Amino acid sequence: MTANVQPEASHFIAGAPVEDAAGAPLVVTYPATGEVVAHLHAATPPVVVAALQAADAARAEWAATPRAERGAILRRAADLIRERNHDLSVIETHDTGKPLQETLVADALSGADALAYFADVAETLAGEDMRFGDDTGYTLREPLGVCVGIGAWNYPIQIACWKAAPALACGNTMVFKPSEQTPLSALALASILTEAGLPPGVFNVVQGFGEVGAALVEDPRVAKVSLTGSVPTGRRVYAAAAQGLKPVTMELGGKSPLIVFDDADLEAAISGAILGNFYSSGQICSNGTRVFVQAGLVDRFLTRLIERLDGVIMGDPLDEATNFGPLVSEAQMTSVLGFIERGKAAGARLVTGGARADRPGWFVEPTVFADVTDDMELARDEIFGPVMSVLSFDTEDEVVARANATEFGLSAGVFTVDMTRAKRVIAAIEAGTCWINTYNLTPAGFPFGGVKASGFGRENAAVAVEHYTRLKSVYVASGGVDAPY
Ligand code: NDP
Repeated sequence: MTANVQPEASHFIAGAPVEDAAGAPLVVTYPATGEVVAHLHAATPPVVVAALQAADAARAEWAATPRAERGAILRRAADLIRERNHDLSVIETHDTGKPLQETLVADALSGADALAYFADVAETLAGEDMRFGDDTGYTLREPLGVCVGIGAWNYPIQIACWKAAPALACGNTMVFKPSEQTPLSALALASILTEAGLPPGVFNVVQGFGEVGAALVEDPRVAKVSLTGSVPTGRRVYAAAAQGLKPVTMELGGKSPLIVFDDADLEAAISGAILGNFYSSGQICSNGTRVFVQAGLVDRFLTRLIERLDGVIMGDPLDEATNFGPLVSEAQMTSVLGFIERGKAAGARLVTGGARADRPGWFVEPTVFADVTDDMELARDEIFGPVMSVLSFDTEDEVVARANATEFGLSAGVFTVDMTRAKRVIAAIEAGTCWINTYNLTPAGFPFGGVKASGFGRENAAVAVEHYTRLKSVYVASGGVDAPY
């Protein structure tokens, strides 16, 4: 039984829901059944302009709001999200199809953690003092102005919070565009922020397809863009932002290595591989989808992995017993099944899964391929579905070179009991976010982001402040001024 998740209106601008039925229809379906659960509209150009105007108009007052007050509002919003976690998780499950068992612990709560973390950051935001002989200097961290956030569909409310929390803490305003596939939870976030005391116009949401995102990025009122999305979209958004010389944060795709040495705790390594390939049905940018297992361990690893996959409970995501849900859309399911078929044709050994599940909705079985080689599409392209590729390796030097032989560089994981080796391997891997003996943990105080084609800039942690402020340096003379004439 689905719940009523139809929002009051499609957009949220200047502190209130806004509708414009002239916008292209945006139909939200429950991925577990294909049932329509909400009707919205994409933003028309006047709606986009209204959101940008609201964010621009709110800018000066929000920037001048005492930091402690900004922090208190963000903290209240975090508390409200935690109180309403169940309802927000139900919305997120309808939108994405992810099991409630997951959304209850990983989505809105992660957003609340970011808001609470940056509430503290807001209160401690400071520049530096310097001395130059008798003269002094200081720096100010100033807000950038109107920021645009554009989100992907896999973690809608988490992405909205990870962008809004640092932006707002630093005194910026924001216009956020969710993925058109998952438009619901950002609206709930906007209304919670307003209830927490955020002034009208500081956080606005507009819906739409890529062209709405493009219109936001190009607008001269916009000072900064933060995108979570695919590499091709990243290239387009980066190019558009470059025209206005706007700074960007890019959280893009990945094809990350998860390396298991033969001395690893096997159960922990398999848990890491399961989390890093099948959680959210594999729709996680940082997933460790190239699982490199040291040669002597491969058979035991696969045998035990298959046993552990007996624990998969595929079913209605709203049932809290379900731990494996559908993909977000029919198109995504078709895309993933295409990768699987081409993987079989290329000679990879299908160990388990490999097909659409025999039930309604966009379910693909958890799929494991062994004997995958580096040149196969399975090992090269981001699939964004429940498809694990197991590759065998012999030596440390070999696995490091093979792990780095990719355009991506979002994440990496190493499982071994030898901590010296673990740190040596991680030091040699070209990736932005790494884990030793675990996978995909992303607390709010942990900088998250990629290198190479996976993007740049970091979300979360104190370092995010650098991406949402500009530095003003002030030199203060104490004596007279010498001039040559
Ligand atoms: P897309 O790149 O298709 O879309 C991302 C967002 O950008 C959407 O809101 C999209 O709108 C919008 N968009 C599309 N074209 C433009 C444009 N020209 N200008 C401005 N905005 C535009 O990604 P998906 O939604 O398919 O998400 C999956 C991808 O996101 C994967 O590659 C995944 O790895 C990556 N991702 C990265 C994360 C990270 O932190 N590194 C985390 C999560 C996902 P619309 O959807 O309406 O077209």
